[in-house]
Amino acid sequence: MSVTYNFCAGPAMLPQAVMQKAQSELLDWNGLGTSVMEISHRSKEFIALTEQAEIDLRELMSIPANYHVLFMHGGGRGQFSAVVNNFLGKQGKALYLVSGSWSQSAVEEAKKLTCDAQIDSINIAENTNGINQIVLPDLAKIDQDYRYLHYCPNETVDGIEIFDELDSPWPIIADMSSNIMSREIDVSKYAVIYAGAQKNIGPSGLSIVIVRDDMLELPSLPQSSIMDYGLGVKHGSMYNTPPTFAWYLAAEVFAWLKDSGGVVAMAKRNLKKAALLYDFIDSSDFYTSKVCQSNRSVMNVTFYLANEELNASFLKGATDANLVALKGHRSVGGMRASIYNAMPIEGVEALVEFMQDFAGKNQ
Ligand code: PMP
Repeated sequence: MSVTYNFCAGPAMLPQAVMQKAQSELLDWNGLGTSVMEISHRSKEFIALTEQAEIDLRELMSIPANYHVLFMHGGGRGQFSAVVNNFLGKQGKALYLVSGSWSQSAVEEAKKLTCDAQIDSINIAENTNGINQIVLPDLAKIDQDYRYLHYCPNETVDGIEIFDELDSPWPIIADMSSNIMSREIDVSKYAVIYAGAQKNIGPSGLSIVIVRDDMLELPSLPQSSIMDYGLGVKHGSMYNTPPTFAWYLAAEVFAWLKDSGGVVAMAKRNLKKAALLYDFIDSSDFYTSKVCQSNRSVMNVTFYLANEELNASFLKGATDANLVALKGHRSVGGMRASIYNAMPIEGVEALVEFMQDFAGKNQ
């Protein structure tokens, strides 16, 4: 059977070794004679799994002791409302930086839950001659008392990544759904990091929230108990029945990441994969990138065919070559190759080879 490389933006491919392990122990996990998804979340075996998952995640991301780790429901979007409900109260204000479609969605959700005056936003994506670029504002010049600043360091749809650390006078909340653990970051620079799981962590539905303990003192809005961070901490992310199978797979992905050299090794591999693809795109007149060099996402490589009439035939040819899910998001068109941690370099090599071949035949 020839290998299929799946470039889906999410749910995305998971490490093959993890999927094989899950398959091998699906019917009998840990010698219990039952699947991990059929046992109590409060059983000692499952609790041991969750404890190990947290130890591994803390080690992988060097999470300081004054941060809590939550495994929650609701994916990425669930956290768009949770951060508002947990931290804004009736009076608090927040600043949102808009760099693309996900950070824009976060603003829209925040405005739904508050009065407009509580949410300020600044568009930080500039388009010059068709090229997108991030221009960070001088935050120190803004005379406001925000409870937090929200931003999205990797815009999955647009293929735009912000590599610079923000110099923010307010606590930073980052939506790292599509770049968590893709490279090293200093967690202590953030008040809250959250991520939907379905790219670099595990199956969709689950989300991970890393929250600094002082943030839990802020006044909250009335909200659903299962999205209440304070209750989540108090109940070890088990106020209600958590998505146990997704948690199990996330734990397996963390173990795989550690075995593969951790985030440092992943970051090196990710840079290599991205460079291979971007260098090829830049060397060709047939394909173009619409993102400036300094903001090109290492995880989501968006690109366009110079002749867009060939899009359908490109996608069909790619699928025939077992390179799947390359269609760009419907809002921006073109192509997108999502090359998260689980994508091996061979997948990117196969894609470049196909692109080269397709260009040769259609010049
Ligand atoms: N934020 C980002 C950066 C995303 O990429 C996504 C999903 N692609 C979301 C939020 C929303 O996640 P979910 O679909 O799990 O709600």
